[in-house]
Amino acid sequence: MLFRSTRGQDCHKTFEEVLLAGLASDGGLFIPEKWPQVDLKAIKKCKSFVEIAHHIVPLFTDSSYTQEEVKEILESTWHDFKSKNLIEIHNFDNNVFVAELFHGPTAAFKDFGLQLCAAFFNTALKKKKKTAIILGATSGDTGSAAIDACKHYDSIKTFILLPKGNMTEIQRRQMTTVDQSNVCVIDIDGTFDECQDIVKYAFQSKQFLRPNQELLAVNSINWVRIIGQICYYFFIAMKINQFSKPLNFSIPTGNFGNVFACYSAYKMGLPINKILISVNKNDILHKFFDKNDYSKTSVHETLSPSMDITVASNFERLIFDFFLNSNPIKCKELFDNFPNSSISFSHNAWQNAKQLFHSVSISDDRTISIISKIYKDFDYLVDPHTAVGMAATSLFTDVNLGTTVVLATAHPGKFPDTMKLSGISNIPTHHKLSGLLEKKEKSVSLEANKDKVLRFIADNNL
Ligand SMILES: *Cc1c(COP(=O)(O)O)cnc(C)c1O
Repeated sequence: MLFRSTRGQDCHKTFEEVLLAGLASDGGLFIPEKWPQVDLKAIKKCKSFVEIAHHIVPLFTDSSYTQEEVKEILESTWHDFKSKNLIEIHNFDNNVFVAELFHGPTAAFKDFGLQLCAAFFNTALKKKKKTAIILGATSGDTGSAAIDACKHYDSIKTFILLPKGNMTEIQRRQMTTVDQSNVCVIDIDGTFDECQDIVKYAFQSKQFLRPNQELLAVNSINWVRIIGQICYYFFIAMKINQFSKPLNFSIPTGNFGNVFACYSAYKMGLPINKILISVNKNDILHKFFDKNDYSKTSVHETLSPSMDITVASNFERLIFDFFLNSNPIKCKELFDNFPNSSISFSHNAWQNAKQLFHSVSISDDRTISIISKIYKDFDYLVDPHTAVGMAATSLFTDVNLGTTVVLATAHPGKFPDTMKLSGISNIPTHHKLSGLLEKKEKSVSLEANKDKVLRFIADNNL
């Protein structure tokens, strides 16, 4: 199975090429040339998440790794979770389930994708006898998941840029309290967009790299992250009803990575009724599904900071695969002109999307009232991102779509201030979050200047 770019220039790329490149050379995103199909009968026999991953991951990796190699990698990929059961499923009533994806070491679902990414990075680097720098900017949970996943590998040094902004103290401390020589957190006196620009510049210049060193990206467009996430959709559906009836999935989303993983699972044979795209006030996706208008606006800071985005980078994959029938020429044209020209489709094509997708946009006030109500009525605590996903279920709307699974993307303990705003003081602990407030923080402060940041990385390389 090989991969191609949504914008047409790169094609027939192997898994390993896609892993190491991140973004395609034409600025597009990698996508499988054909959707592999999953044998649901075989998956029904699986007892654990990892067993299911053994059926799914090799469908994407056969261009670079043997079954045996992948098997060995997967045995140690997902680590430091609360229990062997990586995912807990909570049942409200027969219509509403919550899949808790936050029991990993950084208390958000991103551990699933990034631990898989890091495991394959390590294997690829060892094979090529290379080292790597990981460079990323974060305004939420990506940084901590990348740091935690990569810190175990000596051949990788991780630099994470933190903008001034809306991250919670816990989220920041998850990064700044990691005391290891192959991890470096840089406070940038600038915005998230300025940090992103520095990262982009670094990927063009690469001058700070040593011989035999790769520069690797961990942002949400990396296809390997998506593979790690595809696995849990199969696991959740298997656990809930053994694929006997199509489920709805409500996914709190920002960059559309988690939604695209759900769509991928659907294309690979998972029975799905509707995919509910749940967003906060940053509603570029909702405006598209509601009004056929995909246009960039400015960012709003909300109580669900990991979904505060201006564009949903992974949405390009859906545009290519679903709306453009895999036509890279049209896709390139749309994105060459975006964001100057907004994106829309013929009425029929757009209307057709409603068979599979539905979207909602939720304000901060509504987020708080949902957290309080779920706590009061069910004695269950959701984090602000999960609360956005809850809004689309029959607990909060009259639209009854049948059984809906909400993805709980973060542990509520990451957002103590929002819990207080919702009138809740008794916050459950997470096995890796307790003690963070007492640990010593370690970070470097730099101004938002490309050359200064790159010089710092060169001076502090492995
Ligand atoms: C990253 C993140 C999201 C958004 O995920 P996307 O894949 O970008 O849609 C939602 N919730 C939490 C807690 C996150 O960390």
